[in-house]
Amino acid sequence: MAVVLEQPASLDAQPAPPATRVLRAEGVRKVYRSGADEVDALRGVDLDVRAGEFVAVMGPSGSGKTTLLNCFSGLDSIDGGRVLIEGRSIHELPDAERTKHRAAAMGFVFQAFNLILVFTTVENVELPLLLAGTKEAEARRRAEETLARVGLGHRFRHRPTELSGGEQQRVAIARAVAGRPRIVWADEPTGNLDSEMAGSVMDLLSELHEEGLTLILVTHDNTVAARGTRLITVRDGRIVEDVALPATV
Ligand code: ADP
Ligand code: MG
Repeated sequence: MAVVLEQPASLDAQPAPPATRVLRAEGVRKVYRSGADEVDALRGVDLDVRAGEFVAVMGPSGSGKTTLLNCFSGLDSIDGGRVLIEGRSIHELPDAERTKHRAAAMGFVFQAFNLILVFTTVENVELPLLLAGTKEAEARRRAEETLARVGLGHRFRHRPTELSGGEQQRVAIARAVAGRPRIVWADEPTGNLDSEMAGSVMDLLSELHEEGLTLILVTHDNTVAARGTRLITVRDGRIVEDVALPATV
């Protein structure tokens, strides 16, 4: 299974054309404190991501992958350094502005889907649009269009419990992309899926990446990581490796 990742990145690759930098992290530190205990979860992490990259993030359990994702996306606070998303230092923005910037620029996909169980699929997908101020009719139209795009055009009125895990994750992806974000963060999106469902979810994410989405995805699975254009490895709160991946066909 590790075979794909053991190939060295191509050394004679042409330099990539200049692309807009969507993310820049500089010396980011994160310390979790509980009582007298301190955990240095991020120990001064730098990262640049250009528009259109698909960055796979791997590393042992507890190494700081989820923390990196939450801190770099502005879901969580940081204890040092700074993070620029599309040029704006997100942790220095007032809360309301950070939330607005995040809703406009970013979408999120989690291992446990995090769908609202009493809502239908359409209601789940349109909720963030409504919260962002989209008018009801437009939010409904966009939610239905996005569900159709992820192959769930026949499941508008189903509730999450009436769907398979793979279908639930497709709803979550539709929810993440319905607002047309430039960046999607995914934390082990295939972690709760069998390999067939994982494959179809990754086909979908790869298609969205090919349509121009910047994707930053945490995974334990080498075959999932191999879909990326770049692989970073996190260990003990640091990025210890950062390599370009060969294109897979
Ligand atoms: P990963 O996603 O790579 O498994 P995490 O980013 O979740 O790792 O965790 C990194 C480190 O921070 C671990 O040592 C973990 O125990 C610790 N940690 C994570 N979240 C918290 C928290 N809310 N409070 C205290 N420690 C935490
Ligand atoms: Mg994690």
